Amino acid sequence: MDENFQTDVEGIFAAGNVLHVHDLVDFVSMEAEALADSAARYIKEGPLAPCPIRIHTDKNLGHTIPQKVSGARNFNLSMRVTHPMGNCRIAVSQGDREIAAKEMKKAIPAEMIQMEIPCEKLEADKPLEITCESRMPDKGPERSREKPVWDKNLEVHKQ
Ligand SMILES: Cc1cc2nc3c(=O)[nH]c(=O)nc-3n(C[C@H](O)[C@H](O)[C@H](O)COP(=O)(O)OP(=O)(O)OC[C@H]3O[C@@H](n4cnc5c(N)ncnc54)[C@H](O)[C@@H]3O)c2cc1C
Repeated sequence: MDENFQTDVEGIFAAGNVLHVHDLVDFVSMEAEALADSAARYIKEGPLAPCPIRIHTDKNLGHTIPQKVSGARNFNLSMRVTHPMGNCRIAVSQGDREIAAKEMKKAIPAEMIQMEIPCEKLEADKPLEITCESRMPDKGPERSREKPVWDKNLEVHKQ
């Protein structure tokens, strides 16, 4: 999926839940409007500009939309974390240069994260790396080590 919402098959576009499950319909509408612009350009002008810059994520992020960009236009990056994280920082880098960053008090898989990425800092020949790092221990494993309330009650009952 590239920045034009064009799939790997030229002339086939996709947006909305068929692409990735959305938490809010507003994001579906935004994607659909961008898709419509791209499809109209494709019909009027022919094949769209190639998107050679690949986007990779670390293990804390599932995937991104788009997954490849041209580097010639600003684009909206849409993603989710793979597990709950506190005090986290998402960084978009190309080589050793940071292009954009976003800090969040919490991030959960149910909520989509959006970032506007400016094209002027992008280089045409290097992939983009998206990382999400937390300065707090992950909530999931912490919680799972605690005994559930019903289990504690059972122990009191046994005594
Ligand atoms: C329980 C729940 C509550 C939600 N609450 C909110 C909310 O309060 N606010 C909010 O902003 N968002 C909410 N959302 C999210 C929102 O519903 C979705 O983001 C949005 O509906 C996705 O739109 P879509 O058009 O991409 O997909 P869909 O709305 O899923 O539309 C896809 C359509 O394609 C049809 N279809 C599927 N297969 C075929 C086929 N083979 N041929 C023909 N037609 C087909 C389906 O019947 C469906 O009508 C909620 C989602 C859920 C599940």
